[in-house]
Amino acid sequence: ARAKVVVVGGGAGGASVARQIALDAAGQIDVTLVEPSARHTTCYFSNLYLGGLRSFESLQHGYEGLTRAGVQVVADFAAAIDRERRRVVLGGGGHLPYDRLVLAPGIDFVDGSVPGWSLDEAEVMPHAYKAGPQTLLLAKMIESLPQGGVFAMIAPPEPYRCPPGPYERVSMIAHYLKGKNPAAKIIIIDPKEEFTLQKLFEDAWLKYYDGMIEWIGPDFGSRNLSVSPDAMEISIDGEVTKVDCCNVIPAQKAGKIAEFAQLTDETGWAPVEPSSMRSHLDGRIFVLGDSAQQGDMPKSATSARSQAQVAAAAVIGDLTGRDVPAPVYSNACWSALAPGDSVKDGGTYKPADGKIASIEKYVSQADEDAATRAATYQESLDWYHTITAQIFG
Ligand code: FAD
Repeated sequence: ARAKVVVVGGGAGGASVARQIALDAAGQIDVTLVEPSARHTTCYFSNLYLGGLRSFESLQHGYEGLTRAGVQVVADFAAAIDRERRRVVLGGGGHLPYDRLVLAPGIDFVDGSVPGWSLDEAEVMPHAYKAGPQTLLLAKMIESLPQGGVFAMIAPPEPYRCPPGPYERVSMIAHYLKGKNPAAKIIIIDPKEEFTLQKLFEDAWLKYYDGMIEWIGPDFGSRNLSVSPDAMEISIDGEVTKVDCCNVIPAQKAGKIAEFAQLTDETGWAPVEPSSMRSHLDGRIFVLGDSAQQGDMPKSATSARSQAQVAAAAVIGDLTGRDVPAPVYSNACWSALAPGDSVKDGGTYKPADGKIASIEKYVSQADEDAATRAATYQESLDWYHTITAQIFG
């Protein structure tokens, strides 16, 4: 019988690895992808949707390209992993046996990380940090913000999905409000001392949205933070602020199925070998994308895709004996500050000192001219087009 690979999660990491193995080992390996959604909505570029720069439909991708590549797509979720018998237990009943399993379930949220908030409250104070209905809900709330109203964001602690994501989001919401609701205010309450690309974001906020955005770091009391969804209030060190909309982005951990399978450690993430994305806790299982605890790579779609290429080669090597090339990883992240003005950061990585280690980095400069920023913005549009074609076919 042909070797069987099951992939759990059809996002940036999972769809990439499933398609890659199916194409590269056609006729040798049967690949099955388990994903409950019929269409994937990307988190990347969802901020541009909030800013009115893209349609929601443009964020959605189907799995026809995977089917065409020979992947069997199962519309269900993995409820459990039976590691002893090497099979994935499906939510809808039944199970899928595997020789190798790849988990790419993205993130879940840490219960209680923002006191007063739980997932049950996400309809009132949305996270919009998994794209889909939450993104639409947040957009509706921004649209119906009263004139001169207050939009608040509770930013997450490290490590979390897409380090510049919350700050790009604020920039895009400010762009939207500047046109429709210019007296509105945005406050960001942040548990971090500083955030990624801070100078680039703060320069842009001054240039485009002067006076609209206030960033409140931990010195000002966000350590003693709680929210009250019913009253739409935020309490910082006992001082209560009434807001009109609150976007809570909680602390994060690996997608729950990795935890159920006992592949995570006390950090909440799944430790992996830096040369292959193979789990430290089970040699037949690979974990990639946001769920993996791998070292220096930021949790991004570009990272997930890069890890998927390395993992695909390792899985094929395991099952066919084919040579596995030396791994090299890369990341690139774009952040839109305003229409036609984006910045980027990224780098290359390779295994060293027991982790995926950074070997080279680049980042946009603060004093760049408008033409450079416009070129970076265009690069980001090209990147989205290319990476979604690479992931979904
Ligand atoms: P995901 O893409 O989230 O995919 C996980 C999939 O697993 C989902 O489809 C889910 O339905 C499925 N799943 C979960 N549990 C199960 C289960 N038990 N059974 C079956 N399926 C399951 N990255 C960039 O590179 N560039 C950007 O500009 C960028 N911008 C971003 C902006 C925002 C606002 C956010 C939130 C993120 C952004 N990212 C960006 C980050 C990027 O979206 C993630 O890092 C990337 O999607 C991670 O890929 P993944 O495969 O690990 O998880």
